[in-house]
Amino acid sequence: MTTIGDNLQSVRTRIATACAATGRSADSVALLAVSKTFGPEAVREAHAAGQTAFGENYIQEAVEKIALLRDLPLQWHCIGPIQSNKTRLVAAHFDWAHTVDRLKIAQRLSEQRPEGLGPLQVCIQVNIDGGSTKAGVPPAEALALAREVAALPRLALRGIMTIPEPATDAAVQLAVHQRARSLFDELCAAGLSLDTLSMGMTADLEAAVQAGSTLVRVGTAIFGGRARAA
Ligand SMILES: *Cc1c(COP(=O)(O)O)cnc(C)c1O
Repeated sequence: MTTIGDNLQSVRTRIATACAATGRSADSVALLAVSKTFGPEAVREAHAAGQTAFGENYIQEAVEKIALLRDLPLQWHCIGPIQSNKTRLVAAHFDWAHTVDRLKIAQRLSEQRPEGLGPLQVCIQVNIDGGSTKAGVPPAEALALAREVAALPRLALRGIMTIPEPATDAAVQLAVHQRARSLFDELCAAGLSLDTLSMGMTADLEAAVQAGSTLVRVGTAIFGGRARAA
């Protein structure tokens, strides 16, 4: 097996172990392989090892990679910031966008989603801990934005996504993921039909699964360290 294949297997085992520890079934958590900064050959290796869903942060880089991998049946998730001038590319090339945090961006994605494609699957990015990155809607505004996004014709609202400030302490990781879980539950209780809680990365996927994540986004543990910051 390739190194990427071995790494994928280890990550799947981590997810399964974390699921078992909280009485969840292993298939209740989807694995998104974050391939940002890695070339198409790395994605091919991961696909050969059974991975089909990939996450990218840099839209221009992703569009080029997606074009080179058209021969494979892959699903592409945009997990990086989306500026207004990039919405057309996201709407045309991705299956999912996890980082919707403004109505204007959601409206553009809906208007620009090509007719021939199904609805773009979206998550509202929530700034769950007021972290310094500032991306994401404040938790108190998530419900209002979610209702507006859910009404857009060419988008399918699936849930919320968070990127907490990095923390090494497992209890700290768990507490912030539990806040996201509570918000997710509130939105569902308010009548939105959501099935995706996108949270957890290489360093905190166990805490995220324990709190109820349904989709972990893992880069480093699959592809190795990245040469440039992301
Ligand atoms: C880079 C990135 C990841 C993956 O992070 P790792 O620590 O490498 O697993 C997940 N989500 C987002 C939004 C990212 O930017």
